[in-house]
Amino acid sequence: MNTNIIKLAGQFIFVAFALGLVPALYINSELDRIETQYNRNIQQSSYNQIEYSSHKLKDIIREIAISIPTLAQSKTLLKAIKHPTTDNTESVEDLWNMLALGQKYYSQIRYLDLDGNEVIRVNYNEGTSETVPSPKLQNKSSRDYFKKAQSLNIGQVSAYGIDLEIENGKIVQPLIPAFRIMTPVATAKNQILGYFIVNLSMSDIYQQLQYEKQVTQTLPILLNRSGHIIMDTDLESAFGHLLPNRADKTFAITQPELWAEIQNHASGSYLEGESWYIYTDVAPDIQQITEPLYMVLKVENRQFNKLYNSEIRSTIEQSIALGIIIFLLSSGFVLWNYTHKKNSIESQLATAAMNGMSALVITDRNNRIIKVNQEFTRISGYTIDEVRGRQPSMFASGKYNQEFYINMWAVIRDNGMWEGEVINKRKDGSLITEILRIQAIKDKLGVIQFYVASFVDISRHKELEKRLRDLSEKDALAGCWNRRKFDNELRDECLRTTRYPDKIESCLAILDIDHFKRINDMHGHDHGDEVIQTVAKVLQRECRETDFVARIGGEEFGIILPHTSTNEAYCVLNRLRIAIHVELEYKVTISGGVTNITDNAKTNYKCADLALYDAKTNGRDTICIFLDEEINQIA
Ligand code: GH3
Ligand code: MG
Ligand code: MG
Repeated sequence: MNTNIIKLAGQFIFVAFALGLVPALYINSELDRIETQYNRNIQQSSYNQIEYSSHKLKDIIREIAISIPTLAQSKTLLKAIKHPTTDNTESVEDLWNMLALGQKYYSQIRYLDLDGNEVIRVNYNEGTSETVPSPKLQNKSSRDYFKKAQSLNIGQVSAYGIDLEIENGKIVQPLIPAFRIMTPVATAKNQILGYFIVNLSMSDIYQQLQYEKQVTQTLPILLNRSGHIIMDTDLESAFGHLLPNRADKTFAITQPELWAEIQNHASGSYLEGESWYIYTDVAPDIQQITEPLYMVLKVENRQFNKLYNSEIRSTIEQSIALGIIIFLLSSGFVLWNYTHKKNSIESQLATAAMNGMSALVITDRNNRIIKVNQEFTRISGYTIDEVRGRQPSMFASGKYNQEFYINMWAVIRDNGMWEGEVINKRKDGSLITEILRIQAIKDKLGVIQFYVASFVDISRHKELEKRLRDLSEKDALAGCWNRRKFDNELRDECLRTTRYPDKIESCLAILDIDHFKRINDMHGHDHGDEVIQTVAKVLQRECRETDFVARIGGEEFGIILPHTSTNEAYCVLNRLRIAIHVELEYKVTISGGVTNITDNAKTNYKCADLALYDAKTNGRDTICIFLDEEINQIA
């Protein structure tokens, strides 16, 4: 059983493997394709974002930078510098307030003198511009951007940043990233008077860098030359180069390999862990920026990619569906194979059984023959074509009456089976003795559908049995029954007589050849044997079928005469005596004694013997009677 299960499991695994190999390879390649496609999509999308962001930044700065020299050299400003009257200063402030309101990116517009003092300043924040009053103006000579401004030539416009807003020496909280564009303010005689500086609101500009078609909806961060973040949606880890507690927040420390990659290539992509980093140095594209400014876009691998997830999901669904189909196919195959094998074994068994030792006749529910086997044809002589559609009663020998068959079918109906010995008829008319078994085959509802009759031919056994019985019960010389059989028969007759004492009257006779010794002596022993055979032959011929003739001694014969009175027996015996005498040409005579059969075989035998003795004593060639009642008298 276990071996069978292991075998079936083995078959299942083999079939599932064979069926699943190609789909598995397909799914694997499909997953690879999705992965590659996804990476390509991510990279493409990210490149688009970086491209868009750097262009946008470049456009904004260029747009602003173009107007800077005009503003720096405006007559109103020069006039206010040369003649810083309240009117002149207010004219500049009015102009700049208008400018700030019209240009959304300005957060400060300033003029600084050569010593770094703010002379005129307008602030702008969320739709409101204001002029900073004189007391609040500061000296910016210590700031790096002022030093940068000092290095500029007349007409040169430069950008500085991204830096933080600092008021009165303190970093403004929350942090305000600022991008400064500056140019010297000079007289017509090329004398630098001071510096015109515009602060751009980096937060507003930063929002403009978002590429709307970007899949991941994330903005690139900006890194300065030291790897510190100078722009991010969250400024928590930004400006490490300016804030002491964030000094180590540089890519040079946190992601050294990526940082090396960024520094060594103008642009590219880098996969670290689960994230892609797409980077580019935007400085070379923006004229006003003189230091490296890196844009880095971080994209979480697979994180937001709906397309990827849905493709993966549909591939997994396909795999599951395929798995189910393969499972069903494999199970189906194993089941089919198992059933087929079983069926083929069963059909082989059925064929073997059909052509086995027994003859088989299969009939339908109406007892019409539908199939016979080779053994049947061999035994009966009938082929299937000769018997198909006919009833088995065609084989009846006529030895049984209607009642026998009625009983037989009743047993089949009640027990589903009948078994017994029957004599049937062959095609050539000869009789056949069979051990027959008729079995009813029922369907699930218990309705008989077929009858299967199987039989074994025991005709030869029967013959052999008869011969053996004959050998043990017949006399070899005389051909009639022997003494043993005679004794049994006499005992049975005694029982019958005892059972029906008033109805049955039977007789026992004993015959003895007279002077047989003499015959032997005169004509030889063989002749004596012939005489014995002749006497036996005449006795059997002349007696009734119901009489029982046996050789019970050397030249002694016993006869049981059922339903015969002693007088009738006396007559029969005399007839026999004469017939023998005639048959043996008046050379041989016999004597006989007759008695009535009672319940005691021994007594009967004795009486008959006494009667025979009387016959011998009375001169032989005669019959005497001695009844059992006489023996009582003797006693
Ligand atoms: P009785 O008239 O008194 O019967 O004289 P009998 O000679 O027949 O005497 P008995 O019946 O005693 O003799 C029987 C003889 O039969 C003895 C034996 O030699 C002979 N005999 C017995 N069996 C056979 C046999 O099978 N074949 C032959 N040929 N002779 C047999
Ligand atoms: Mg004798
Ligand atoms: Mg004799």
